[in-house]
Amino acid sequence: MKFENLEVFKMAMRNTNIAMGREVDFMKNDKARVRACCVEKKGDHGCQWKIYYILNNKTNTYQVMTYDPEYTCTRRIENKLATREWVAEKLIPRLKTQPDMSVQQVFEFFIHTYQVKFHDAMVFRATKLAKQKCEVEVEYTKSWKWFLQNLISDVGDPIEKKYTFIFDMQKGLDAAMKEVCDGAPHIFFNKHIWANLTKHAKCNSGEPRRAFWNCGKATTP
Ligand SMILES: [Zn+2]
Repeated sequence: MKFENLEVFKMAMRNTNIAMGREVDFMKNDKARVRACCVEKKGDHGCQWKIYYILNNKTNTYQVMTYDPEYTCTRRIENKLATREWVAEKLIPRLKTQPDMSVQQVFEFFIHTYQVKFHDAMVFRATKLAKQKCEVEVEYTKSWKWFLQNLISDVGDPIEKKYTFIFDMQKGLDAAMKEVCDGAPHIFFNKHIWANLTKHAKCNSGEPRRAFWNCGKATTP
């Protein structure tokens, strides 16, 4: 099992365990390691599910050190792994097609899709957060659409004129490009892709970095 970085690993743990109806605690949790155990583990008793994910200093990559996949606990419908952030992230795509979802509809959506149940206060706070995130995204996209439309009316069709856009990781620009000039060639700065990949990881040097830049400079697959 390999993951890009600790954040990706933790998100995978969250998604998998919520889907399975299990609740785990992140016991150790720093930049070099994450240890997660079932909340029903009591020393040598109770459910013994656990995983230990650690940075290998020699290879500068993360790896699973310990993994006990056997669960003995029963499925739970309320789960502390489903944090407000998690709920909001899952809700955003849904809100894009149904922006006026009621608290009751959000509640039912999570019961049906994820078999997880929340208190009203949680549903309310997470919905508010998701709506805020959606609004910000929409605002950014709107601004970029306006900019791109003006740019194209000045310089001409980018596909016809063979222009290439270079992105600097600006929020909302992807979506605006799709709407205004879908198919126009665009590229990302390598340094931003690398920064994004290693935002939460320690392996931002050594062999992974060299390999990444070699890929970036390659002219053939
Ligand atoms: Zn368990």
